[in-house]
Amino acid sequence: MNYNVAVIPGDGIGPEIVREACKVLDKIGVKYGHEFKYTEVLMGGVSIDATGVPLTEEALATAKASDSVLLGAVGGNVGQSNWYKLPPNLRPEAGLLAIRKGLGLFCNLRPAVLFSQLKGACPLKDEIIGDGFDFVVVRELTGGVYFGERKTVTENGIRKAVDTMPYDENEIRRIARWAFEVAMKRGKRVVSVDKANVLDTSRLWRQVVKEVAREYPEVEVSDMLVDNCAMQMVRDPKQFDVVLTENMFGDILSDEASMVTGSIGMLASASLGETKLGLYEPSHGSAPDIAGQNKANPIATILSAAMMLRYSFDLLDEADRIEAAVKQVLDEGYRTVDIMSEGCTLVGTKEMGDLIAERI
Ligand code: NAD
Repeated sequence: MNYNVAVIPGDGIGPEIVREACKVLDKIGVKYGHEFKYTEVLMGGVSIDATGVPLTEEALATAKASDSVLLGAVGGNVGQSNWYKLPPNLRPEAGLLAIRKGLGLFCNLRPAVLFSQLKGACPLKDEIIGDGFDFVVVRELTGGVYFGERKTVTENGIRKAVDTMPYDENEIRRIARWAFEVAMKRGKRVVSVDKANVLDTSRLWRQVVKEVAREYPEVEVSDMLVDNCAMQMVRDPKQFDVVLTENMFGDILSDEASMVTGSIGMLASASLGETKLGLYEPSHGSAPDIAGQNKANPIATILSAAMMLRYSFDLLDEADRIEAAVKQVLDEGYRTVDIMSEGCTLVGTKEMGDLIAERI
């Protein structure tokens, strides 16, 4: 099969890490008989320098016309770069908001995988970690309290602020479907997280999730209150497969989930919408402090490319193959500087990409 991938290298370490991910995809192409055609799209600081805006209409149109989008990272050194003297809507990160909106992405997937080889980076105790854990947070991205009506008023001399948290059943249904689809490609277990003992939106959330669950009889589903979930993630993260939740709870829980893995250079992510077109990117930023030095860990981006194969192209064996190659390289003791530990072999960005590609 042929796949058209819009590639957004972006700023800082973005071009270096995306290059390695494409190298690994090309190796998959050779092994499994696929062709990945890349179209480079400008976004972020590089786009500001070239066009005056962080994402042009043409760049967005190219991304929309592709089968999927692979992104490095955007942004510069916030204290130093001239990009941050521009108004907020013209800064590099505005490109991210514009592309997510333009592509209609409402679902964020954040896997929290602790590779047993990197246990040392995990802040949890050994008896909790066991052989490592592997779950994914599915977060609703475009509804809830971040997008509800808000106001700040003064009533009888007292300042008062109100935020509202609206969700309609369609918004809940479409994100729940993604969670069940993801579960079908993983361990077939969904924990839906809410605050149904207090919030009406959460009670509706529970009802709709139950309705969607009937379409997926193979998937085991349960509910969990968000305060309990925050606790369970550090008490016993191994229990989770897919964690489904609304926007604000997901914002908090996905950061907690990242933290328990301990290695920012290893964390992939995906944003999805109504169609198969997704935006795949590492969870970290553009790391301007190490840009251009062949020091960046490309694994988060390589694992994001594996997610693209799994969720946008339904290439499950190929995605597994990339993840196995990453594990093999870690088993053999190769490390970039951010995950380096005693007795291991230090390699650069390019060498790490080469090693993973060779093991495909
Ligand atoms: P960051 O994630 O870029 O860096 C934090 C620290 O982690 C730095 O010390 C960096 O060197 C290190 N690091 C990050 N990724 C690494 C990797 N792959 N390998 C090795 N080390 C890595 O966060 P920051 O410093 O807060 O932000 C830098 C810039 O990135 C800012 O302009 C910010 O706005 C932008 N940003 C972009 C995105 C995105 O494009 N999605 C996300 C977050 C931050």
